[in-house]
Amino acid sequence: MADGGSSLGTFLTWYEANHRLFAIPLRRIGESEWEFASTKWLVVTLVRDSIVVTARHLTDPADRWDEIAEFDAIPLEIGGSWVCRLCRDLPAPSSGPPQIYRSRKALLINHVFEPLLGWVNDKLAGAESLGLYGEAGNMTWAKLLRSGESDAETRCLTRRIPL
Ligand SMILES: [Zn+2]
Repeated sequence: MADGGSSLGTFLTWYEANHRLFAIPLRRIGESEWEFASTKWLVVTLVRDSIVVTARHLTDPADRWDEIAEFDAIPLEIGGSWVCRLCRDLPAPSSGPPQIYRSRKALLINHVFEPLLGWVNDKLAGAESLGLYGEAGNMTWAKLLRSGESDAETRCLTRRIPL
């Protein structure tokens, strides 16, 4: 059975049906780009079959600081079924054989879209601020911080943005 449609179309359809599950809704700002209703400091990008969440720059919100979360898949069709090539070729030590899906859409939902939803509800919704670390143009990283969280990397903290 053909399983047509782009990942973008698949995501848009899935999000339309599931947006109420998101503790923080997405707002589309470009062809394959979204931001969160609660902050302009994070941008969600669909790249091929993966979704990346990137922290923006401290002075220019249009600039990128660093990735903060990534949900990857490389769908591969084998005899009418689908597996993720990343999971097949680079399995986690504890994982068994890669999961087999009926469709590309089912793989993307289970592997990319639902993990994004889980991250938004478990991590982002519970975060008090966004920490930008390092030095722009040099080594940078970003992470979500919970309130009162003691942070061993405070020395490298460039900016803490309330969420
Ligand atoms: Zn995978």
